[in-house]
Amino acid sequence: MCRHLGWLGEPRTLADLVLDQPSSLLVQSYAPRRQQHGRVNADGWGVGFYASDRPRPARWRSDRPLWTDSSFASVAPVISSRCVLAAVRSATVGMPIEESAAAPFTSGRWLLSHNGVVDRSVLPADRAAESACDAALLAAHVFARGAERVGETVLEVAGRDPTARLNLLLTDGDRLLATTWGDTLSVLVDEFGVLLASEPYDDDPRWRDLPDRHLIEATPDGVAVTPLEPTL
Ligand code: GLN
Repeated sequence: MCRHLGWLGEPRTLADLVLDQPSSLLVQSYAPRRQQHGRVNADGWGVGFYASDRPRPARWRSDRPLWTDSSFASVAPVISSRCVLAAVRSATVGMPIEESAAAPFTSGRWLLSHNGVVDRSVLPADRAAESACDAALLAAHVFARGAERVGETVLEVAGRDPTARLNLLLTDGDRLLATTWGDTLSVLVDEFGVLLASEPYDDDPRWRDLPDRHLIEATPDGVAVTPLEPTL
């Protein structure tokens, strides 16, 4: 499983969000605290973020471990954004290790990251997918169905692959959407904004663990958590 994180709120630097916290994504790339599948996240990393004069996000991705990227460490303290989505990757066995397989994936204004695994044969072959890895095919499928409908799409994919783990994290720059389906996710709300993360990056007592099989929507107005199971 990979680890991912999304921020929406006052502008923060990429270094503050990704590198500098006691258990930041940088630390999670070699010593995650809650990871159940895989030990390190050294098969690439990526960050997407929004600038105020530009609706589409900018991305920086790599197929190498985050801890080797001294150029990113040099510029990260001087890039700030009010909406950031970042991930470190532990490739599922058999998946390609390449920059285009590292989250976040993108379509238009949207960014998407996947923690988990899904049988590629249950997903449509999509020429818009950025890579042949399962996460990129899933991202293309979610985008094709409409990113706002990610909850329905997760239920549909889980119905076709009951062993899939489908923790997704998306943003369009104005809100964060996430699903929990087989892995951990935590939320921290403070006076500056909201953070969703596979695991807490520090020991702040305000972190809350989110329940499995739920859809989470975070906006400047609050965080909504709704069950994903179809109602009987
Ligand atoms: N299956 C996806 C990949 O190979 C995500 C892996 C993960 O969550 N560790 O990239």
